[in-house]
Amino acid sequence: MNENLQKEQAISSTSSQTLIVNQQQNGNNIASASTNVAQKPRMHSYNAGLPKNFVKQTLNKNAQKNATEQKNAQKKSNQNVASKSSNLKINTQKNTQNSVIVDVNNRNLNQMIGIGAKGKKQRQNNKALRVMFLGGVGEIGKNMMVLEYGNDIIIVDCGATFPYAEDMPGIDLVVPDITYLIQNKNRIRGMVITHGHEDHIGAIPYVIGDLNVPIYGSKLAVALIQNKLKEFPKIKAKLVSVKPRDIVKLGVFSIEFINVCHSIAGSFAMAITCPAGLMVHTGDFKIDYTPLNNNYTDLTRFAELGKQGVMLLTSESTNVEREGNSISEKAVGKTLDDLFAKYKDNRIFVATFASNVYRLQELLDLAEKYGRKVTFTGRSMVNVTETAYKIGELKFNRNLFIDIDKVNYYKDSELLIVTTGSQGEPMSALTRMASGEFQKIKLDNNDCIIFSSSPIPGNEKSVNNVINNLYKIGCTIIYDQLAEVHASGHAYREELKLIHYLLKPKHFMPVHGEYRHQKLHKDLAISMGEEDRNILLPQIGDVIEVHSKGIKKVATIPSGNRLVDGLGYGELESVVLRDRKQLSEDGIAVVIMSMNKTGEITSGPEIISRGLVYDGEDTLVKEAKQFIIDTINANPERQTDYAIIKNDIRRSLSNFFFRKTKRRPMVLAFVFEN
Ligand SMILES: [Zn+2]
Ligand SMILES: [Zn+2]
Repeated sequence: MNENLQKEQAISSTSSQTLIVNQQQNGNNIASASTNVAQKPRMHSYNAGLPKNFVKQTLNKNAQKNATEQKNAQKKSNQNVASKSSNLKINTQKNTQNSVIVDVNNRNLNQMIGIGAKGKKQRQNNKALRVMFLGGVGEIGKNMMVLEYGNDIIIVDCGATFPYAEDMPGIDLVVPDITYLIQNKNRIRGMVITHGHEDHIGAIPYVIGDLNVPIYGSKLAVALIQNKLKEFPKIKAKLVSVKPRDIVKLGVFSIEFINVCHSIAGSFAMAITCPAGLMVHTGDFKIDYTPLNNNYTDLTRFAELGKQGVMLLTSESTNVEREGNSISEKAVGKTLDDLFAKYKDNRIFVATFASNVYRLQELLDLAEKYGRKVTFTGRSMVNVTETAYKIGELKFNRNLFIDIDKVNYYKDSELLIVTTGSQGEPMSALTRMASGEFQKIKLDNNDCIIFSSSPIPGNEKSVNNVINNLYKIGCTIIYDQLAEVHASGHAYREELKLIHYLLKPKHFMPVHGEYRHQKLHKDLAISMGEEDRNILLPQIGDVIEVHSKGIKKVATIPSGNRLVDGLGYGELESVVLRDRKQLSEDGIAVVIMSMNKTGEITSGPEIISRGLVYDGEDTLVKEAKQFIIDTINANPERQTDYAIIKNDIRRSLSNFFFRKTKRRPMVLAFVFEN
């Protein structure tokens, strides 16, 4: 995006107010609200304390301004944005109707942006919504979608990915490249979060400091983000929690949060309206007709939106390869109950995802029912439980818990141990218990271990290792191939079809999936009568323009991985990764020597080596030393430029090691003048 484009935008970003309206008060309210949306997609100011025609009036006013004025205003505005955005503050107040009004700032956006000024060249369709992907397409992980209309930008989700150890040694986390967002920082009105899973909120601490925009999400998502940010005391983020059917206005966008069922509480789909039309983003979801806590996917609302006319659907694709419908969480609860009854004399362990609040609730209820005390292993498990308990998403009796050091005072039949490590993570309690390295709990053949989870693709091998080790100890093991002890949080084919059926979108982009998932999801949509030309498979970095008449890719923006390791965050170049890989696989050799001004060796060379993985490392090092001396002496014109000498040593020694060992250790050479 550039200055020209900004000038071209005839779109006003009028609302200096941000509204959240809860429509859930009564049925009438919902009905009237929906009609209102259909007729005037921009005016979601139902009853939130603003004049009804506020948005419209401001728009008209702006249209009347003359172009010169606006150009001047724009110059000023750019400065204003920069200086004022740091003063951004949010006042949240509740009114009598249980609606929340959020006033983001007192920025005068009308003045700040060159509203109504039409440029000569129109490089992009300014009636179109631009959808950009910084992650989460062509991959499962680090979801981040950027929506842009006119001068307004909003961000949907801000996730991270855990790297496969083999690909990226020493890297803890992968987060999206946000170059584009930093360049357009002043136009970003806010970030909206679908739910609190790592692949949707994990990158926030590494991004929000640079962007300084308010974040909207469910109570649980917000609490989990807050938790995360505790480790980054310098970052001050503005977090606002919203309820299902709340509407938030951010610039020209109004975002309605729609309740969906998923493997974490507080999950939302979003109906996003801008002047280009209505877009529905499913977020991660499943359709469960018997969910826990009556936490249904709000199909009624989906149906209403479908009636209204959906210009664009972006839907998750994770389980598009699975036929039929996903298992209900209640069914899992029933299986677990049966297992607790069957193994009433055994010590029971359950490995599950820390974030699966529903599953934890089921387990705690069962512990209560069967008179077992509960202990958690794994820091993330304790963190999430505490967070969810505090905000009332998880309900339990505190007496239920015992400290892990006390487990040996209880009989097997009195214990439930809930643990992380369902993915075979090497440092997790369960993996260490299975290999006998966990001091506090020793497993034996009276232990029943339930994997209430399924391996994330890529983790199968580690999980199988753990299961094999547990069998060797003589434990009873139950995993999802043996019983319904786990339900996926992602919609299967029939559930995806229902959403397509209800929404009947004009355009469709499959997201939250690898390319093959996206492709299959496209085929599914076509089988339901959607048109090939209206479906686009977005890839990371793509800028897609979509409006009522069509959808096309128009550009790309910088995108990719930014890496986080124990030391910091940022552009850990591929060089760093290559080095780490080389070090871990082939080892290192350091050469130290000194030379005089005429290029004769005065001491050394000494070679220090680590990890060359060679039986005769001593002999090899001796040979290597001689090889260096020979190489230097072989050069009749004695080289005296140390940089060149160092390079020569590095290159020739690397080749020497390769000839001898078929490995290429990292070679560092230090040459001193003496
Ligand atoms: Zn999720
Ligand atoms: Zn996800």
